Amino acid sequence: MKKVLKLMVVAVCVLAMTACFVGCGDNSTDGKVLNIGTNAEFPPFEYIDSEAGVVGEFAGIDIEIGKAIADSIEAEAVINNMDFDSLLIALSNDQVDCVIAGMTITPERLEEVDFSKPYYKATQVMIVSNDSDIAKAADIADKQIGVIDGYTGQTCVEDLGYEYNGYKKGADAVLDLANGKLDVVVIDSSTAEKFIGENEGLKIVEDSEVFASEEYGIAVKKGNTELLDAINAKIDAMLEDGSINTICEKYEDQ
Ligand code: GLN
Repeated sequence: MKKVLKLMVVAVCVLAMTACFVGCGDNSTDGKVLNIGTNAEFPPFEYIDSEAGVVGEFAGIDIEIGKAIADSIEAEAVINNMDFDSLLIALSNDQVDCVIAGMTITPERLEEVDFSKPYYKATQVMIVSNDSDIAKAADIADKQIGVIDGYTGQTCVEDLGYEYNGYKKGADAVLDLANGKLDVVVIDSSTAEKFIGENEGLKIVEDSEVFASEEYGIAVKKGNTELLDAINAKIDAMLEDGSINTICEKYEDQ
């Protein structure tokens, strides 16, 4: 009798463990989750809006595109929010499946990861105060310059050979500019528009001779052609039917 009881206990345990394994597999290994890496400090592409989030509390152009891509492969979009300069490491370590972060396709990044086809064109611009005499990139040589760590804006200023102050968040750099601690912030055009809308007394200065046009792409781990093909197919479809345009207008005009 005792033996039978023992056997029953063992059987129940084995059943319970099997159920757990099957259950765990459902959530993480059957490919139904698309883990998206981003840095939600980059309006209108990705930011936190606890009331009007698209995936959880996250909203923006990239979040909508990421959700559409996840839908197209019948996966659930999960946003992994982290520092911008950790994103490509997270991709290489398999912490995320793709990075959708207003990320400019550059030759340096292409050595580390693969990029989708471009879905957006941008350029670096300078945010300055309304009364600033800065009119072109050369004028910022001896000014207090703010850039965001790991952004292409930082590379642009480095290439010019100018000293700069590095920030983790664009909003913090712009706050220091508004408070007079900085003379200029170099950042992507569309994000600059958002920041000057949120802070009084700031304007945008462009210098297209110095700041070249950039293209945003979605990054995947090198060699992940299966996911890259699915992403490219969805980007193609969304460029063709105008939905990327509609999404951009929705967030840029907000
Ligand atoms: N486009 C810039 C870059 O790739 C900034 C991107 C971002 O902040 N999300 O570095």
